[in-house]
Amino acid sequence: MLIAGNWKLFKGPHEARAFAAQIRHLPERVSGVQVVVCPPFVSIEAAVRGLGQGSHVRVFSQNVHWELEGAFTGEVSAPMLIEVGATGAIVGHSERRQYFGETDETVRMRTETALEAGLSVIACVGETEAERKAEETEEVLERQVAAIPRHERLVIAYEPVWAIGTGMSATPEMAQDAHAFIKSLHPTRVLYGGSVKPDNAQVLLAQADVDGALVGGASLDALSFEAICLAAADVRA
Ligand code: PEP
Repeated sequence: MLIAGNWKLFKGPHEARAFAAQIRHLPERVSGVQVVVCPPFVSIEAAVRGLGQGSHVRVFSQNVHWELEGAFTGEVSAPMLIEVGATGAIVGHSERRQYFGETDETVRMRTETALEAGLSVIACVGETEAERKAEETEEVLERQVAAIPRHERLVIAYEPVWAIGTGMSATPEMAQDAHAFIKSLHPTRVLYGGSVKPDNAQVLLAQADVDGALVGGASLDALSFEAICLAAADVRA
């Protein structure tokens, strides 16, 4: 079971360091659960420092460029992330796809480079509300998943776009169906993301093919993030 907190555009270095210090011992209380936080680029190093030596909480970035260096203003490379202590990256989050022109092809390039550099990857897929209404969910997932390479350090996050930041999570049955479908295409762990909160985490995580969660809003508060990690440990027990 893996629980990853995506902080999005929240928490500068000062806040990131304090938050990390607060949760540094969390993995010891949630047996069988890997805990990951994904701060903004500028806060990665501060989060790593806040966790200190010996913490089992891992720090991932929210994106990574497909080139290692070069004339790519505004981008951050895998070796730079590794240098500041990140051990993984989210790739293809729907907010990147919606607002920043991310495509299946750029997701593939980012993922390949990140994996080659030694990072772990959480690769995101998921349909929009219009696509679900038009019964195109499987077609969309098939296309998105086809762009994601297979690798032992890669997990997929199923994040229906209509459920992200809306408070309207997928039902456990919807999540289970989508996860089983994704696994039929790409055998790997699949996290669920989309309005996971302390009060719905347990039922979502209890589904047979839900292997963890990518949590946005509810990961910004240490107590609610801890509660979701504890729910994962309960399901695991
Ligand atoms: C996310 O950012 O990946 C996410 C799922 O956000 P939220 O939990 O706020 O819906």
